[in-house]
Amino acid sequence: MALASALLAQGRADDAMPRSILLIDRRTQSSDDDPRALALAEGSRRLLRALGAWPADAATPIRRIHVSQRGAFGRAILDAADGADAPFARSPRQHGGDALGHVLRYGALHAALAKTLAPSATTRAPGSPPAATHLQLFGGSQVRTIRAGGDNAVVTLDIAGRPHTLTARLVVHAEGESDAAATRIRDYGQCAIVAEVGLPRGQTHGGVAWERFTRDGPLALLPMGEGFSLVYTVRAERLADLLAEDDSRFLARLNRDFGGRFALSTISPRHAFPLALRLRRAVLAPREVWIGAAAQTLHPVAGQGFNLGLRDAWTLAHAIGASRDDDGTTGDPGDARRLARWAQQRRQDRLGTAAITDGLIRVFGSALPPVALLRGAGLATLDLCPPLRRALTRRMMFGADPVAATPTSPTDPATPA
Ligand SMILES: Cc1cc2nc3c(=O)[nH]c(=O)nc-3n(C[C@H](O)[C@H](O)[C@H](O)COP(=O)(O)OP(=O)(O)OC[C@H]3O[C@@H](n4cnc5c(N)ncnc54)[C@H](O)[C@@H]3O)c2cc1C
Repeated sequence: MALASALLAQGRADDAMPRSILLIDRRTQSSDDDPRALALAEGSRRLLRALGAWPADAATPIRRIHVSQRGAFGRAILDAADGADAPFARSPRQHGGDALGHVLRYGALHAALAKTLAPSATTRAPGSPPAATHLQLFGGSQVRTIRAGGDNAVVTLDIAGRPHTLTARLVVHAEGESDAAATRIRDYGQCAIVAEVGLPRGQTHGGVAWERFTRDGPLALLPMGEGFSLVYTVRAERLADLLAEDDSRFLARLNRDFGGRFALSTISPRHAFPLALRLRRAVLAPREVWIGAAAQTLHPVAGQGFNLGLRDAWTLAHAIGASRDDDGTTGDPGDARRLARWAQQRRQDRLGTAAITDGLIRVFGSALPPVALLRGAGLATLDLCPPLRRALTRRMMFGADPVAATPTSPTDPATPA
């Protein structure tokens, strides 16, 4: 949806871009039932704002992150002020009103993106004449096969149970995590329990996010609305017991695990997600590209998955938009050389972010006493060393390639960054 939205915005700004976009999704409805909350970095807020898809009313700012480990010394505090000298963040107001990032429900983001597409979309059967708006949505559709290569990709899909065939110049896979043979997988043997938790009346979260590392995995409380969004990582074999616990027992466990800092008092139904690192070996094939979780699925420890996928989409839109034929008209969106440059440009951000996330899980998962000491020393160093803190904060806010993935102006998605 983000990619389609960025391509449409380019099309509106550039008459030379007649382009037909077909968005095919298995889902038929809104995502209000998705239990995930997403922590979005400041860079993502800017990209979404440039697309007209920033749901400001549904987003809670993170002003500070408190990082600690259970049962050992060392803690670090990252503050929004640490990112104030990041690229394009010349003043706190410019970099998002003093926030490191924002937390919002997956459903709110989905709805905001759907709204940007709605005015341009037609929902019509494949094979009917191209619409002037160039965007066709196929909800409730399941892709069956893709035969790609040469000048086109031929896609077969089921719409409302009936088979159809489409031809495209480029197929972008954004279908979420995959276990395909082309993907390297590390199973963490962990699951994330997610829920929304509430504070007693009169207490506020103050915009502080809490990340606490334990040997079973990291625990996070992200400020959302009046309460917190919880991501509670456990070893897979303990999952069933923890899901079966009644709410008051689970809340008591939570309050204990966070060192008695809060008196969390309410909790929504709990949902669980198995956690693994999945990295697609090649994100390009002739006439095919993979972005978002279809290209990489990360442990949610640092809340980077969607942020990374959005940067994939934004930069791909500009790579496609920049392709021109000699006469100045729209070029081939499946141009192999241009796509290869895009994949190369994305490499550092994709692999670097995956490596950092994976490294955190390994280092904080180790039970060896010397490693625990080093971890504590690392957190203390981070806390006491402003340049290190600033570098980490900037990376979290804008990714590895802030220039490529930042709109040149907040209202101008058509300008290639
Ligand atoms: C517990 C948890 C917490 C997380 N927290 C954060 C966070 O704080 N910050 C962050 O940035 N990221 C976070 N993530 C990661 C984030 O959820 C994902 O990176 C993001 O949702 C990926 O987006 P996507 O669009 O690539 O895939 P998805 O969101 O999985 O969407 C895939 C879409 O493809 C459709 N689809 C699938 N198969 C087909 C098919 N065959 N044909 C047609 N359509 C199909 C689906 O219906 C769906 O609409 C978290 C993940 C988990 C599990």
